[in-house]
Amino acid sequence: MLLRHTKKEVMEREALTINPAKTCQPIGAMYAALGIHGCLPHSHGSQGCCSYHRSTLTRHYKEPVMAATSSFTEGASVFGGQANLVTAINNIFMVYEPDLIAVHSTCLSETIGDDLQQIVTKAKDDGKIPEGKHVIYAPTPSFVGSHVTGYANMVAAMAEQFAENTDKQLDQINIVAGWMEPADMREIKRIAKELGVSIQLFPDTSDVLDAPQTGKHVFYPKGGISVPALKSTGDSKSSIALGCFSGEPGAIALDKKCTVPFKTEDIPVGLRATDRFLMSLGKAAGKKIPESITDERGRLVDLMTDMEQYFHGRKVALFGDPDALIPLTEFLLDLNMKPVHIVSGTPGKLFEQRMRDILADSVPDANIKNGSQADIYLLHQWIKNEPVDLLIGNTYGKYIARDEDIPFVRHGFPILDRIGHSYFPSVGYMGGLRLAEKILEALMDRQDRDAPEESFELVM
Ligand code: SF4
Repeated sequence: MLLRHTKKEVMEREALTINPAKTCQPIGAMYAALGIHGCLPHSHGSQGCCSYHRSTLTRHYKEPVMAATSSFTEGASVFGGQANLVTAINNIFMVYEPDLIAVHSTCLSETIGDDLQQIVTKAKDDGKIPEGKHVIYAPTPSFVGSHVTGYANMVAAMAEQFAENTDKQLDQINIVAGWMEPADMREIKRIAKELGVSIQLFPDTSDVLDAPQTGKHVFYPKGGISVPALKSTGDSKSSIALGCFSGEPGAIALDKKCTVPFKTEDIPVGLRATDRFLMSLGKAAGKKIPESITDERGRLVDLMTDMEQYFHGRKVALFGDPDALIPLTEFLLDLNMKPVHIVSGTPGKLFEQRMRDILADSVPDANIKNGSQADIYLLHQWIKNEPVDLLIGNTYGKYIARDEDIPFVRHGFPILDRIGHSYFPSVGYMGGLRLAEKILEALMDRQDRDAPEESFELVM
């Protein structure tokens, strides 16, 4: 048993996290920055931080993730990293020729007190930023928050530092993407196209972290929102933020700077969240839901009906990012399952209340916790006390699944031990079909594995 040290008895902990259900802020900032075309993310800290962020993204997406670093050594760690960053900006534009550099801080540079705005201004004043090129920056101290916070901070920085209001309203809607896979972002664009709505989706990592293999190495893949498109978001009619933790801060920043009104929706995972997103998008753009989308919904409802007998009453434990867990929990309820243990390492008061509201009628006594002490160790303890039929979460859940012999569906970030997950959307009705199929497959594989010979059935 790899997790044999996990005790069944749950004790209150205040200053200890064991197996966190989150990762570090700059990883989120780096992921968001890759959603701008021609962007080179830059980590203002030590080489080790940058290597960790890059390798986590590379292992999840199975794509080379480019990023630069301020390469702090002892001197910069004591006296600050201004000289390193100004030199880095100069070198990066000369050698790697990006359209923009997106700088995020790290624990070290934040502890020293480096002021990114002041350093970038100095680089500009010193003529280190060529004409037509850009440097944006976001604070991402990893001793607070999580990768979701880092993502949200970088998305807000995009809005604050790029959006322009020219007083010429454009017939377009901004969609501020919460943390989703590249395939999810592509699916959002497809849905908008079906509705006939012109959108600006940002960030947009489709065709960046799932760019086609052409046999040629391209340093900056064709995907990502362009800088002119980002600027135009200030002239959009309105914004829809997807996810109150990862998407909403970007929409708030845009509203503050350019007075673009916004509505926050859940990331459209499952039936009801997709319904709400479509209604919001249709209303914002004055478009009706086309028959093709209604048909997709009908297919998902049909599948859910067919599957319901296998899902009914099955207990589920899940962990991950709040914006992913909220609609997923709602979808599990729609499938007639019982989410009984839910953990997210990302802090934020809203999460538990939202979950309680969703589960109020069906699982009022569910275990729900988020923040630093809401870790995978606690989830394991809860499972020991009340076993479940299914575990849903990122790769780190495989240790619990193995020790407790629970069917396991990989969902969320990071997934380090499988390939292909980022190519299939989980959002929209099509994404719902895939999620439901994945869950049923895990449950039925277990049923087959455990069935005695006399009840090993061809038709189940
Ligand atoms: S937690 Fe802090 S020190 Fe560790 S990799 Fe992240 S930014 Fe670097």
